[in-house]
Amino acid sequence: MYVRCMLTMQDLNDPQSNPLPLLSCVRTTCDASDYYLCVWNSLYPHDAYFDLAMLSKINHEFVAEGKLGLEFKEPKQLLSIDTQYMLLLNLLCYQIKEIIKGKKVNVETRRIPKLVFSTKAVMNHFDPLAVEFVSVDRFDNRLLNMRNLTTLTMKNCDLPTIPVEIGHLPIEYLDITGSKLPINQDTFWDWMSMTVICGTLTTLKINSIGLTRLPFEIMYLKSLETLFATNNKLTYLPEIICEVKNLKSLFVADNKLVYLPYCIKRLFALMDISNNLIIGTVSPDDDHLHKYMIELTTKQKNDAENAVPSLSHLSLYSLMDNCVTFKRQDIPRTLWIYFNVMGRCNKCKRWTLPEYCQVGFKDMIVHSILYGDRFEPGQFMVCSNKNNCKRLV
Ligand SMILES: [Zn+2]
Repeated sequence: MYVRCMLTMQDLNDPQSNPLPLLSCVRTTCDASDYYLCVWNSLYPHDAYFDLAMLSKINHEFVAEGKLGLEFKEPKQLLSIDTQYMLLLNLLCYQIKEIIKGKKVNVETRRIPKLVFSTKAVMNHFDPLAVEFVSVDRFDNRLLNMRNLTTLTMKNCDLPTIPVEIGHLPIEYLDITGSKLPINQDTFWDWMSMTVICGTLTTLKINSIGLTRLPFEIMYLKSLETLFATNNKLTYLPEIICEVKNLKSLFVADNKLVYLPYCIKRLFALMDISNNLIIGTVSPDDDHLHKYMIELTTKQKNDAENAVPSLSHLSLYSLMDNCVTFKRQDIPRTLWIYFNVMGRCNKCKRWTLPEYCQVGFKDMIVHSILYGDRFEPGQFMVCSNKNNCKRLV
């Protein structure tokens, strides 16, 4: 027997709290010789068990009107039941009284889970089957047990790290807007290389976190449709963003972008690029590939014109062509820089690096959310060696 009701669960340790009544089912149940009141509602989809031996008071004056109050010593809670099923409530009240008198009452028997309802459980409302979790100030490790989690919000949190294990959860929506990230972000984005989240994440919000460049791991997020990275310090978008083939909306307002990668044209993404430094012309000082080349030539003699790609470059291309996912730390640190500057040749579509290409700018149509379709400068790369530049079939 169970009673459908509106149930208010008042924590008597915190009389100031003002809990809302929840649509619930309550029933008595028995495990060995112990009797419990079992509560099921949206807060406790796996039932909460109140030990009837801990009952300190029954307010039954209005049971004929469908109202019953049960006060427990442990946990210190007042459960107020309000139902239209007066007869059932009468029966429940009678049962409870008989149980308290020590009589053997015929109720449903079942094994009560080890984790019987406790005050602590009331405090944190943690439910491993929850699909949504909002962190208040920091990463909460318990959420790693939420195997059905699809929405994770960690706004304005202190996030020294995000454990790689969240990549095993089927998260579709992740928001870390305004959170404080570590200065050294080497391992911070590892979760993006985990198989499950790569296939499920459709919306990522990384606004206002002081990003100076997009993490290259973003290219693993094959289902990503919407990326928010507004109010950061991005000076360019790497070409690898075009590997996120499902991207439909890109919000990068309030950054320091001067141009976009030309390949983004192929994504047909709606963009918000307002409040950047895009003025139509690009000075070499603002061109990240130009800066990379200058650094390179100061380090070594530049004989790139007819150069054969080095072995590390070839292995890099191979990693990209075979869509191998890896964690940043798995490859030499010296290779990391390449993910910011590598791109596909605009003609043959093969992977290349600035040392083997000519870099140029072309106007391209950007589908701007604010201004409609507009022409903006797009940066492209084309193989220097024409003999190598053959379109792959
Ligand atoms: Zn080419």
